[in-house]
Formats: sequence, structure tokens, C-alpha cells
Amino acid sequence: ADTVAIDPWGSSTIDDYRKLFDEFGIESFDELLPDVPHPHYLMRRGVIFGHREYDRVAEAMQNDEPFAALSGFMPTGDPHIGHKLVFDELIWHQQQGGDAYGLIADLEAHSARGISWDEIDEHATNYLLSLIALGFDAEDGTLYRQSTNREVQDLAFELGSRAKFSEFEAIYGFDGETSISHMQSVVTQMADILYPQLADEPKPTVIPVGPDQDPHVRFARDLAVKMRYFKVSKAFASFEASDAERPLLADAYEALTDGGDEPVRCEDAATWLADTDAAPAFAAAQSSAVSKLEAAGKEPLRPRVRFFHRHGPEDAFEAMIGAIEGEKRVYDGHIDAFELTVADAEELARAVEVENGGFGFMQPSSIYHRFMSGLTGGKMSSSIPASHISLLDDPEEGYNKVKSASTGGRATAAEQRERGGEADKCPVYELYAYLLASDDDEFAKHVYDECVNGERLCGDCKEQAAQLMQSFLEDHQEKREEARELLSELDIDLDL
Ligand code: SF4
Repeated sequence: ADTVAIDPWGSSTIDDYRKLFDEFGIESFDELLPDVPHPHYLMRRGVIFGHREYDRVAEAMQNDEPFAALSGFMPTGDPHIGHKLVFDELIWHQQQGGDAYGLIADLEAHSARGISWDEIDEHATNYLLSLIALGFDAEDGTLYRQSTNREVQDLAFELGSRAKFSEFEAIYGFDGETSISHMQSVVTQMADILYPQLADEPKPTVIPVGPDQDPHVRFARDLAVKMRYFKVSKAFASFEASDAERPLLADAYEALTDGGDEPVRCEDAATWLADTDAAPAFAAAQSSAVSKLEAAGKEPLRPRVRFFHRHGPEDAFEAMIGAIEGEKRVYDGHIDAFELTVADAEELARAVEVENGGFGFMQPSSIYHRFMSGLTGGKMSSSIPASHISLLDDPEEGYNKVKSASTGGRATAAEQRERGGEADKCPVYELYAYLLASDDDEFAKHVYDECVNGERLCGDCKEQAAQLMQSFLEDHQEKREEARELLSELDIDLDL
């Protein structure tokens, strides 16, 4: 079906990044870049091109507030330079003060890709060694594997109770042939994505991924709301709503939070959003609620929630907690409360949820990076050794692979001098921009300019890149050996 345009387990490359913005609602990273304190070079160079609600994370960074970053690694083969992008993104968020989580998606590798447990153990170790060698602070961050994390398993079960098969069909194209374990691995992944908020408190969380993983992000964002929904409806329920009204009031709440960050004057549920942009959405939710009730032969919705707007959100919180404890008493006596923004309302609802034993999840954010091209042209693939450089490749082999890479060069040196090379189509230039120039923007720009101006010829350019790659691999592999010791000393149950 058209709706399943991205398959997280397929081998699709993304032909048209723009389509992701238009069709799937991924937002462009460019506009957000100025709000990110000390952006990573992958952000500055446009390799990270899109996001979902990353502004929340950027804001937390600016204000020195808690946030988290989490990445899962499916241990199906050796980690290669394409995976290094995700490692770098995770490590960078940790260095910016975030709580960092790296997990081994062993259940997914086994159920979706049929990888044996022995192979999984070997690859998992290799991923973790490279992650630590590249700078992940394993003592400060959290490493785990899906199958041995009890909390993740429990959360997955809970999330599964809110996930419908029809959603699996719509989001992933699952059908009658899909194994139950594959579906179970999906809810486990949803639990992974929300885990940083469970392990600690609800907070902005970023999942750095390639765009092929966006279906997981979308599903996790939906589930975060659904869990919240459930609990918020409980909060609403305390305000004398009937069983039938609870889910409908929760719908109304959902309409409210979609309405932007405008101040909301809360009179009662009926006129709640009258003076905000969310009014039409709310009215629609309400009228659909009324017709659903009528169709079911029940009394139409008679909203009775009353809020007043005099004090700040903190008083409102007190009032709401009081309301929940005192139920009708407080309702009858009116809650002498508040003026609040949608963000406040959301915050408040979350706080109430947590106070009542709920999850209070924030929707997870994500950032998306471009895929690296294969060294031999086409896409980089784990199953085509010449197309990528494994982080475990012998440094000499890495050197040779770069030397035989395709380029964006012209047919002859003379033509290259005259017309310049095509750096934008050159896998070797990508190596500079994504990896070899590391934080040095000047150097990356220098290579680019020299190439397109015809001052740089491919032979020398590849020689330089090949040497840099060789020393990168030498250095990385040395650090992997140091990481091996550290990994064995860590007091974590990775069951490797
Ligand atoms: Fe690529 Fe370098 Fe050749 Fe330019 S000069 S096309 S960057 S290999």
C-alpha cells in the first residue's frame, strides 16, 4: 500500500528526502540549527537533515534541563562507517549533558532477520566496543540488551495492550504471514524508545536514526500519547465524568494539545478552547463524541469540568491533585485555579498522571541523517563488503577500499581542471564530510572548493582520503582494545 512507503527492515534507500517532509511530516533541520547550542558537524553540514520535535531537546540543552538520547543497534553484522554516524550522534548528545542509552536490539535481529543467538552475541560485542571506542561513556550512560531488560519487557507488554494489529498493518505492512515474535519485537522497540522516560522521569528524548526507521518513531509517538491518554482520561474521570465520557474527554484533551502553544482560557469543557486555534479540532472531537454517544443510545456529553484562570500552573497542579483526591467535593466547590498554556496543560496532565502512578510520557523526538553512498556507487550495504568500510577492517584494507572507490571526477584530468569535479556526487567527498574531516569545517570546505574549482584531482584526493581512513582505523582499533577491558569490567548484564 502507498502508506507503507518506508520499510524499516527492507533495503530501501530514500530517493527523495523532500518527500519525507511532505508526506510523513518530518521537519527540516535547517530552521532549527540556530537553536542548537554547539551543533554537531553532521548537523552543520546538513547530513542531519530532518527531525520530529527536536526543538524540545534543543530547548532542554539551552536551559540545562534533563534530556535523553537513545539508539538501538541491530546486531546483524559488523558495525561499519555508516553506523558510525549513529554512534557519533548518541555520543554527542551524551557530551551535551544528555542521559545516553545504547541498546542491543537482539530480539529484533532474531525475529526480523533470523540471526542466530551466537552470531548476535558476537556482533553485539563488536557494536559495543566500537561505541565505547568512539567516546561513549559507559559508566555514565546506560547499555543494555532487549532480551535481558525486565523493565523494557514489562513496558513492552503494557504498550502491546494499547497497540492494535490494524496499526501494525498500516504502519509496517504486516499481514497474516508476519510472525508473532516479529510483532513482539516491535512493541519491545517501542518500549526501548520510551525507556529513558521510564527509567527516570518524563523528559525530552531524541532517537537519532536513518529515515528508514521513521515508522518506529511514528508508532512510538502514537503510543506515548495513547498511554498518556489512558491515564489522563483517568484524571478527567475524577471530575465526575461517566464511563462513556472518559474516553471522549481524553479525545478533547488530545484536540487541546494539538492546538499550539496559545494561552487557553478554561471555562468548562464545552467552551474550553473557544478562543484558541484548537477550537475547530475540539468542536469536531466533541461533536463526534456526541454522535458516538447518541448512536450508542447514551446521553449526550454534558461537560462539567470547570477551571478558572487566576493563578499559575503550580496552584493549578495543587488544585488538580486536590480535585483528584477530593473528587466531587472539589468539583462542587469549584477549583480556584489558573490560566495556562497548552504546554502548561500538557505538563500538568503529565504531572497528574505520574502522581497517580501513570507514565506521563512525552512524545519522543527524532533526528534523521542522510545515508552514506556506497564506495562503489549505489547504496552502502552491509552485505556488499566493497560498498562499505567495516570498523573492523584491517586498516590496509580500508586504505585499499578508498583507493578503489568511485568518484565524482571527470573523464580526463584536463576536463577535471576545466570543469571541476562533482563533489556532490562523490562517495570520496562524502567520506571527508561525514567522517574524515571530523570537526574541521574548514578542511571539509577546502576539499569541496578545490574539487569543484578543478584544483583537486581524484588520484591525489583519494590518496589523502585513503591515508586518513587508514589512520582512523588504526586509531579506532587500538581504542577498541582498550574498550574491551572496560566492557569486561562494567557491572552490567549484557549476557555476552
Ligand atoms: Fe571526489 Fe576528490 Fe575527485 Fe572531487 S577530487 S570528485 S572530491 S575524489
